[in-house]
Amino acid sequence: MYAYREMVDWPAGRKHWLSGSATSATFKEKHVLKMIETTPSLNELIEQAGELLRLQFGTEPTWMGIAPGRVNLIGEHTDYNQGWVLPIAIDLYTVLVAAPGTVPNTIRVFSASLGEQAILPLAGGDGRHPLIWMRYVEGVITEYRNLGVMCKEMDIVAVSSLPMGGGLSSSAALALATAHLIEAATAQTMTSEERIAVSVSAERGYAGVPCGIMDQTVVELGRAEHALLLDCQDEIFSHVPCLGSHISMLVIHSGVTHSLASGAYAARRGECELAATKLGLSSLRFLEPDHINALGDHPVLMKRARHVMTENRRVHAMVTALRSGDKHCAGALLSESHESLRDDFAVSCDSVDRLVALAQAEEGVLGARMTGGGFGGCVIVLVRSEVVDAAAKAICRRYTEYAGKPTQCFTVDAVAGARKMNTSV
Ligand code: ADP
Ligand code: MG
Repeated sequence: MYAYREMVDWPAGRKHWLSGSATSATFKEKHVLKMIETTPSLNELIEQAGELLRLQFGTEPTWMGIAPGRVNLIGEHTDYNQGWVLPIAIDLYTVLVAAPGTVPNTIRVFSASLGEQAILPLAGGDGRHPLIWMRYVEGVITEYRNLGVMCKEMDIVAVSSLPMGGGLSSSAALALATAHLIEAATAQTMTSEERIAVSVSAERGYAGVPCGIMDQTVVELGRAEHALLLDCQDEIFSHVPCLGSHISMLVIHSGVTHSLASGAYAARRGECELAATKLGLSSLRFLEPDHINALGDHPVLMKRARHVMTENRRVHAMVTALRSGDKHCAGALLSESHESLRDDFAVSCDSVDRLVALAQAEEGVLGARMTGGGFGGCVIVLVRSEVVDAAAKAICRRYTEYAGKPTQCFTVDAVAGARKMNTSV
């Protein structure tokens, strides 16, 4: 996996863990730097976590929880409309290593991504830990306890190659890595359904994020070289093979995080519910073309509904394209999805539109779209593998010229979901 980064003022706490020693050296040079480098492999992350545990707590790693991030190939804003999504677990990871705790009645967690240590009383917190990031961990520990899985004292170190808040689901990775770590430490095994439910509860009930189930489901159930088709109504899933090694996936961050995002998300949900009510449907899952016409007096609702209907259809068309190896169709579906998100669902923004357009114009690119809730975040690009390096560099260079800000670009592969290990690292 490669990460292409053009860096300005990268947050201090991240440079070591994201970029290793190469970044530390180049970081001293002040402003825009263009670099191509390798992100830490899973093994490197595990090693880093072990070293940090020794350094921070003076103990040897005994247990480990590992969880990948994810990117949604297609199916945007369909989840809360009881539709379908097609995410992929990707080879950027959060790794938690731990040893028996040295402070009585206490769980200590050091996040290398933040350079911050949090403390949780073994008896449990009140779900309002002062460090918000710790609420994900606290939520999982508390929910496991409610299921009868009791943690003992532990010292934990978390390291990650996932950008936080970048739309690649570092939050679900943190929660699922915690779940697996607890199981390793307590020698108990829960089902995937239980782990997903606990992680969703941690995010909703403790971190206070009204998330769906997609992130936790694919982070737990991802499979190497496969995407995960998830029916958000029935919570049924199946694995769909990806296109193979001749096609690569790029994930490029626009560098934009929009303050309107959460308000707009709530507004879109409201519009979708209103459209369903007006049509007498229990959800927009059941939309047919006649329904769209019936919303003629409500042009905004008509556009929102049209996105949901066409996006659900694109998810199924993508599954067919992947199964038949039709890379051109897969690329075209991505680009159509972007148009629909931009024009009908109105959740894109100028920077993301520009990044998508730059990617689409590049030699060897089959298609591109925004991925995630919108108003910033990441773009996903399908590109022929033999030109992926050149394409990534060209897109990042042009986007940096446009945006005047750093770009993070990853080539990602579909990998297996979260797991645990008893270990000596
Ligand atoms: P995303 O899941 O797309 O990365 P979110 O906003 O949902 O973005 O989640 C990011 C939050 O998850 C962070 O702000 C932090 O609270 C928490 N988080 C994720 N990974 C870590 C980590 N390695 N260490 C500490 N906190 C983390
Ligand atoms: Mg998240």
